[in-house]
Amino acid sequence: MIRVVYVSFATVPFSDASLDELLNKSRDNNRRDGITGMLLYRDGDFLQILEGEASAVNETYQRIAKDNRHGRVLVLDESDISQRDFGDWSMGFRRLGRTEMPAGFVDFFDRRFDTATVVDRRSEALQFLAGFREIGR
Ligand code: FAD
Repeated sequence: MIRVVYVSFATVPFSDASLDELLNKSRDNNRRDGITGMLLYRDGDFLQILEGEASAVNETYQRIAKDNRHGRVLVLDESDISQRDFGDWSMGFRRLGRTEMPAGFVDFFDRRFDTATVVDRRSEALQFLAGFREIGR
């Protein structure tokens, strides 16, 4: 199995209804494809982890990367894994407040971020996502 973690920026406004539509579609597809993970959304920016069999994750990621509702997709981590961290969620979701970011983490959502720094500190993205594991719906 592998996991892929990426950040991206919405290119269109996402209302609650359009986020719900995106999530429903993603969860249906992910259940079908054996993909689990978590999606965080903050004020037009996304941070997502996908985990599952390599072929399924790669196919899903390729579809996501082509989706023109978001852009500037930056992969922070792609690793082999022996077990899932988000096995209970076809796609957990949390919408964060405009500036909500726990102290001590690099701000993955900041459009002005320095790519090298964010990639360098990618292990924080995993810790950050894991912090929402218990409360993703
Ligand atoms: P269909 O739903 O039939 O869609 C066909 C085409 O229309 C696709 O190109 C799709 O991108 C586009 N499309 C669909 N709905 C809209 C819309 N409302 N507005 C504009 N274009 C639209 N998909 C997953 O399967 N799993 C995920 O975990 C996942 N996470 C995502 C995270 C983000 C941040 C984004 C932006 C998208 C995510 N998607 C995810 C959706 C993914 O990009 C594809 O839209 C979806 O997988 C396509 O599903 P489908 O093949 O059944 O095609």
